[in-house]
Amino acid sequence: MIETQVLIVGAGPVGLTLALDLGQRGVRCALIERNETSIQLPKMERCNARTMEIYRRLGIAEKIRDAGLPRSAPMDVFLALSMSGPPLVRLPYPSVAEAKAEIAAHNDGRPLEPYQLISQYTLEPLLRSIVEAQPSVTVRFGCELVSFTQDSGSVSARVSTKKGPDETIRAKYLVGCDGGSSTVRKQLGITLHGEGNIRNLRQALFHCPELYGRISMGKGRHYHIAEGPLFPFIILQDSTRHWTLHAAAASDGEMADIFRRALDMPIEFEMLSVNEWTQHLLCAERYGEGRVFIAGDAAHLVIPTGGLGMNTGVGDAIDLSWKLAATLAGWGGPQLLASYDRERRPVGLRNVKASGAAMSGRLSWRAAYHPDIRKDTPAGAAIRAEMASRFDVEQRKVTEILGIEAGYRYVGSPVVWPEAGDGPDPDNARYVPTTWPGARLPHVWLDDGTSLQDRLGPGYTLLRLGGSQAEVSGLERAWRATRAPLEVLDIRDGQVREIAGFDLLLVRPDLHVAWRGNSFADAAETIAGVATGRLSADIIHPSRRALSSEMP
Ligand SMILES: Cc1cc2nc3c(=O)[nH]c(=O)nc-3n(C[C@H](O)[C@H](O)[C@H](O)COP(=O)(O)OP(=O)(O)OC[C@H]3O[C@@H](n4cnc5c(N)ncnc54)[C@H](O)[C@@H]3O)c2cc1C
Repeated sequence: MIETQVLIVGAGPVGLTLALDLGQRGVRCALIERNETSIQLPKMERCNARTMEIYRRLGIAEKIRDAGLPRSAPMDVFLALSMSGPPLVRLPYPSVAEAKAEIAAHNDGRPLEPYQLISQYTLEPLLRSIVEAQPSVTVRFGCELVSFTQDSGSVSARVSTKKGPDETIRAKYLVGCDGGSSTVRKQLGITLHGEGNIRNLRQALFHCPELYGRISMGKGRHYHIAEGPLFPFIILQDSTRHWTLHAAAASDGEMADIFRRALDMPIEFEMLSVNEWTQHLLCAERYGEGRVFIAGDAAHLVIPTGGLGMNTGVGDAIDLSWKLAATLAGWGGPQLLASYDRERRPVGLRNVKASGAAMSGRLSWRAAYHPDIRKDTPAGAAIRAEMASRFDVEQRKVTEILGIEAGYRYVGSPVVWPEAGDGPDPDNARYVPTTWPGARLPHVWLDDGTSLQDRLGPGYTLLRLGGSQAEVSGLERAWRATRAPLEVLDIRDGQVREIAGFDLLLVRPDLHVAWRGNSFADAAETIAGVATGRLSADIIHPSRRALSSEMP
């Protein structure tokens, strides 16, 4: 029998991220993966801004960028009749280097890190090597969860390996990061709600090393070919020598023909693999039960349009990780783990909805297709113009959703102070920096050129801003009783105070704001109790909610 604190099932990007964060927090965990190796298929290719901020906090953002698409590569998105002609539309998006320069030149609360294109088959082995170096994490590939039972103190999991008889792993908690067909979710009897089996597609991976240098319309990451009814969609992979093609082809063999026609130039290529995948828009009715949780694709399945699959799962992992660590360390109150479902499920539902909206935007420009689109006639030109103008509007629902990626807020969480009022729209596609409790702490450059986010340690931080002398000893006293880690950080820089809007911000280990205000008045104990999960924010009387909304 193997004993550990957390058993993580599934070494996809979500399980690996969870294992890394738990490992860095010193939690003992076992990560098991039924496959013998990491994924060989491309699947996802874009870590979004929020995920890259998370990876920065884990100290691995630059490693990921080193392994991913070169920093100087543009991230443009095109609509064209073929890869050899001019574009019908070019949506320009900066390279990572340009985006970083933009971020460095502005101090308006925008996210600290830009996106990064990295193929899932590159990301997973990289994360695996980093996780394997964590002393408190045991990684076992070729080890499949068969079943589990739980009681009030632990979870017992039966696992099978090809090398011997089944084994038992006993853990305090189990997290199913085991993907869309999750054994953990099924065994808990949790149902997925939404639209399943919307459409079957094929994804083929090509080695076509010369293509990147020969595209005259410009270098980018996404090339949509305006050729109905299949609308081939070609995606650059991180090596710039590999490409994927998505199309609703009838057979694997047809994928090579579709690719050849879409390229429309004499060029050598090799088709390395083809796999089928199915579009779903589904979210689990709950994210766990007792000592068992689900995260990532096990909990929500989106259409990858908009890149909200893995990225949402990484957010799940980071929300759950510190709560597990806190509970295992003994200072996390019962509301902490209970809040995982209440914080992350609404984000899952919203991202399923946003993916659906992104997909309908794509369907809307595709609907402008007519077989005469290539004709050199006024009618052909009109069809091209109509599709181009729709693409210019609708495709942005896929590529310009920074608010969805980084602007989510934990509304109604039991461990976030329930400030009076509705707060900013947590579903805004445009990112608007806010410190409304539940939101992620906006990035601000400090006068010394460092980022505020980089100054925050692994525990809670109480930020006292703009030279405020606000009395914090009441909170420190109340906090000591919780035994949770708290650092008080005085940041005098005016810009932070300006963006925060308050003198005091209480920030959680995952960089989400737990409370804000100008003084604790007589609420220090309640604030400490709510933030550490000993009290539920649900019990706070409306008259006390107004406490933090006093104007600066
Ligand atoms: C074509 C395509 C393009 C995509 N593009 C993007 C994108 O650009 N951005 C984005 O964010 N997302 C994208 N996604 C979605 C992304 O690939 C998934 O959301 C992501 O892989 C989910 O990660 P996960 O770790 O939750 O699950 P998975 O990656 O599915 O990993 C689950 C792991 O659990 C293992 N496992 C399953 N059952 C067991 C068991 N019983 N015991 C042990 N191990 C088990 C599996 O072998 C697997 O390795 C795309 C998906 C597709 C199909």
